[in-house]
Amino acid sequence: MPPYKVCVVGAGVSGLATAVSIQQKLSSKVTVTIVAEKYTPETTSDGSGGFWGPHLVNPEQADDINKWGNETFNYIFDLFRSENGGEVGAQLVSGYCFSDSAIQFVDKCFGVRELTKEETAIHPDNRKGQTFTTVMIDVKAYLPWLMKKFQSNGGIVQKRKISSLDELSPYYNVVVNCTGIGSYDLLGDHNLRPVRGQVFRVRAPWIKHFYVDIEDSNPENEIYILPGAREVVLGGTSQVGDWNTQVDSGDRDMIWNGCCKLLPSLKKAEILEEWVGLRPQRTLIRVEIDKEQTGKDGKAVIVHNYGHGGSGVTLHWGCAQEAARLVEHALQNAVPKSNL
Ligand SMILES: Cc1cc2nc3c(=O)[nH]c(=O)nc-3n(C[C@H](O)[C@H](O)[C@H](O)COP(=O)(O)OP(=O)(O)OC[C@H]3O[C@@H](n4cnc5c(N)ncnc54)[C@H](O)[C@@H]3O)c2cc1C
Repeated sequence: MPPYKVCVVGAGVSGLATAVSIQQKLSSKVTVTIVAEKYTPETTSDGSGGFWGPHLVNPEQADDINKWGNETFNYIFDLFRSENGGEVGAQLVSGYCFSDSAIQFVDKCFGVRELTKEETAIHPDNRKGQTFTTVMIDVKAYLPWLMKKFQSNGGIVQKRKISSLDELSPYYNVVVNCTGIGSYDLLGDHNLRPVRGQVFRVRAPWIKHFYVDIEDSNPENEIYILPGAREVVLGGTSQVGDWNTQVDSGDRDMIWNGCCKLLPSLKKAEILEEWVGLRPQRTLIRVEIDKEQTGKDGKAVIVHNYGHGGSGVTLHWGCAQEAARLVEHALQNAVPKSNL
């Protein structure tokens, strides 16, 4: 029986990747349990575009963003090149970002360069911008794959909502908080705010490139077309502070008209789903040991991994690796809980 017990709260892309990373790093030493209210396909992560590209991040955290982002890019690229690439919908995708200013944080992508005159003509208003090749993953396929991995490594799963991390503290050496926007209520973290995103999912297998149209004067309404392995995601909105998870008809028209203006062939695409999710936006993404819950009082050490905003998939593997290192550090002075 492994001597230490770790609980990961949350089963979105952050929680599942963190749980698997802890198992990989500390295999024989820990039993890992996931506690979450919602599992795939019901998490925010399931609805994301699965596109690698830091979005709505704080330039003050540039070093972390680059480190976590680069680690995640390499990880998805390796998945794409592995025999599991098809199962998780990992792919390389090239495309166009129309914008007046340079796209930040994409140095890691392949072949980043300005659009040629011919390429600007792809846009109906002849906009300039950049082209590059990045990676994508089909999150709706990736989360079940991670869950299978977690359970085959001996991981335990519990489905329930908690109202305080203290509920778990007596039973675990370390509790890792990966609750995304749930941390607003769970921790009372009002540094966290929702950034509402509405999208369509359509069947349009002829779309092979991504297209992102960034209106610098109106960042709430960015038009994007992301060709995933099974469906194309059309977006979207970025409404800061909006908790509404219902599909809004005004947003629907804005997204549909914007995408069809960019690529008129989408008018004939079959609509599969309309969806709204809340990005967990924080001033700074929080991956750290809680300064007030370091285990000195006999309670569990709390490690946080949340607040990734519009970049949860883009940063998930790097953040999960960092959280696993923090768990390893926290266990150095821990007393085994193997008999509980
Ligand atoms: C429209 C849209 C498109 C996006 N596209 C992209 C993209 O292309 N690329 C990208 O990098 N990012 C994208 N994002 C952002 C990305 O989806 C998020 O950053 C990411 O999903 C956050 O993952 P998470 O695991 O932290 O949170 P979540 O996926 O929300 O998971 C949180 C988990 O915690 C659980 N939980 C919460 N509170 C409690 C509680 N009190 N008790 C028990 N369990 C609890 C939940 O049930 C859930 O299991 C997009 C977001 C939206 C809305």
